[in-house]
Amino acid sequence: MTSEKTSAPFDVVVVGGGPAGLSAALYCTRLGNKTALVDRGGGRTAMMQDVHNVVGIPEETSGAEFLSIGKEQLEAYGCTVYRDTISSCSRAGQSTRDSSEEQHQERGQEQKQDREQNHDESTTTEGVPEITLCGTDTDYVAEYVVLATGFTDERPDPPLPRTGRGLHYCLHCDAYMFVDEPVYVMGTSESAAYVAAIMLNFTSDVDLLTRGIEPTWSDETESMLSNHPIEIVHEEIASVQNGDDGWLESLTFEDETVREYTGGFALYGSSYNNGLATELGCALNDDGTVIVDDHGRTTVENVYAVGDLTPGHNQVPIALGEGARAGISIHWDRRKFPRDPSLIDELGPVRNDDVPGIPDELLEQAVEYHTYD
Ligand SMILES: Cc1cc2nc3c(=O)[nH]c(=O)nc-3n(C[C@H](O)[C@H](O)[C@H](O)COP(=O)(O)OP(=O)(O)OC[C@H]3O[C@@H](n4cnc5c(N)ncnc54)[C@H](O)[C@@H]3O)c2cc1C
Repeated sequence: MTSEKTSAPFDVVVVGGGPAGLSAALYCTRLGNKTALVDRGGGRTAMMQDVHNVVGIPEETSGAEFLSIGKEQLEAYGCTVYRDTISSCSRAGQSTRDSSEEQHQERGQEQKQDREQNHDESTTTEGVPEITLCGTDTDYVAEYVVLATGFTDERPDPPLPRTGRGLHYCLHCDAYMFVDEPVYVMGTSESAAYVAAIMLNFTSDVDLLTRGIEPTWSDETESMLSNHPIEIVHEEIASVQNGDDGWLESLTFEDETVREYTGGFALYGSSYNNGLATELGCALNDDGTVIVDDHGRTTVENVYAVGDLTPGHNQVPIALGEGARAGISIHWDRRKFPRDPSLIDELGPVRNDDVPGIPDELLEQAVEYHTYD
């Protein structure tokens, strides 16, 4: 389906405005590409009550504040930020890169070596295929697309504590909050069993709540659990008791036992927002993540993927780094100077009025932005 309005063409459109997308859009914009960020709102960062593990960001900053500062920064540099949902996409002149993971990794490695050896060599942007992204009101057209659509945590059925106030999804983010506190881990999978055992690194009081559902962990995992001081509670939760500050105090189970907890983790898997990647023809891993090389390039030319949508640890600093890497890689691909020798043969030497290469609107914005005078 196409929308009534089509945006002016962009060099780069980033889909998803979490840390990965914000960082990719920041680098693309500041490195001289006409860039749009399209974000529907929500996402995992928006769920964060407090941002942990990000150097320079005070712990009491909420995910919503973090995102809003990031979007303001982008607009100040000349990135256009849209609140919209991309529901479908297409690509003219579809050209799929090697789609098997092995070939892709080999190719990624070769390209990485090439670029590292010849990092000053510019790549022509002639003949670059056009990618169209269909939003609710607007269609966006771009040469390059960065997919930063993340994933959605599977949420267990209620009753549940409040997210970030007793219900948590990220061990590397929040285990520190529960040092020496009573915690639960909710779930019936291998991951739930292992996260329960890992929590013993932080506290001696860990319960594993199956909520009346038959566990799917293996006999080996069952034996691992039996050799660690973890209590497995099979009863379903009947109700949740929170304090006046909204933080969890205890859970009451259907057998009327009451157990005090400061918080815990729900482990029910995740659903990757990989629909656009699939539509564009990007190869996926078995778990639903998008296959990328070291720069965030997918198996489809000019389509990048970054952040939680790709394999690796799911953390804000890692998403920021992946966004930065993709932005720099796109700059390498798109920058005009030094002019490629084959283009010098075709177009002649670079003249004074060909430079600077930065588009006029970004040039004006950058000059206005300068703070040294
Ligand atoms: C409760 C919770 C607490 C956490 N706490 C921390 C922490 O303290 N420190 C830390 O480092 N990590 C934390 N994490 C992990 C962190 O949130 C993620 O690793 C990080 O958000 C990944 O960034 P991302 O940009 O890849 O994805 P997200 O932040 O999820 O952003 C994806 C964005 O894409 C948008 N989107 C998706 N599809 C479309 C579409 N079709 N069109 C337009 N927009 C679309 C989404 O709406 C969203 O805005 C936490 C996670 C959770 C769930």
